[in-house]
Amino acid sequence: MFLLGHSCWSYLFSKTTGRKLNINLPAYLALLSGILPDFDIYFQPYLVHHTYTHSLIVIIPVVLVLTYFFGRLGFAFSVGILSHLLGDFMVGTIPLLYPFYPNSDVGLNLGIPSLADTVLEIGAFGLVLVYAYRNGDYKLVLKPSRESLLLAIPLFALVTLTLLFAGDRSIQLTEFAFSRRALTIITLGHILLSGILGLGVLQGFRWYLGKKRAWQTTNNASSPHPTI
Ligand SMILES: [Zn+2]
Repeated sequence: MFLLGHSCWSYLFSKTTGRKLNINLPAYLALLSGILPDFDIYFQPYLVHHTYTHSLIVIIPVVLVLTYFFGRLGFAFSVGILSHLLGDFMVGTIPLLYPFYPNSDVGLNLGIPSLADTVLEIGAFGLVLVYAYRNGDYKLVLKPSRESLLLAIPLFALVTLTLLFAGDRSIQLTEFAFSRRALTIITLGHILLSGILGLGVLQGFRWYLGKKRAWQTTNNASSPHPTI
C-alpha cells in the first residue's frame, strides 16, 4: 500500500480507538503512526525495506512499550502502526516473523497497483475527510493553532519518503506516478492530502506569528518607560 492509504487508514483506526478509550489522539500522530513502519526507507541500505519494521517480532514489543509508557494514547497510536501491517497484508505480503522465519511472508496479495488497492486508498482518504469533518479536526486547516503546525511532521514524512523510495529504485517519479490510471488516482490523492496538510502547516505558522506578536506587545507594554 502507498503512503496515502497507510496514513489515512492509521488516522481512521487510531482515532476511533482513541475515541473508544476516551482519549483524543492528535491528528498529526494519527496520520503519522501508519507510515512509521516505512521509516526503514530512511535507513537504507543499512535497514532493508519491508523487513524488521513489518514484522510482529519487532512491532509487538514496540506496541507494548508505547502502551506501557503512554497508556491509552500509546495504545491508540500503536493501533495506527498495526494498521500499516494490515494494509500491506491486504495488497501484498508482510514478513510476519522476520528475522526468525525470513520466509514467513503472508498476505492476501490483492496487488499494487490494482483496483483493490486504489479503492482501499482512495476510500480511506474519503472516509478521513468525512471523519475529520465530524470530529472537528478539519478546523486544523481552517484556523491557526499549535496542532496545525505539527501537521508538518506527517507532511515531511509523506514527501521525503516518497522521494527517497523513488530515488532508491531509480524510478522516474512523475513518469511512474501517471503511468497507469490506478496510479494517477493515487498520485492525485497524495497531492491532495499533501495540499491539505500544507494548508494546516500555514495555519500553524499563522498561529506562531500571532503568538510572537502578542508576546512582543506584552513585552513592550511591561518594559519601564524611559525617564527624562
Ligand atoms: Zn510498508
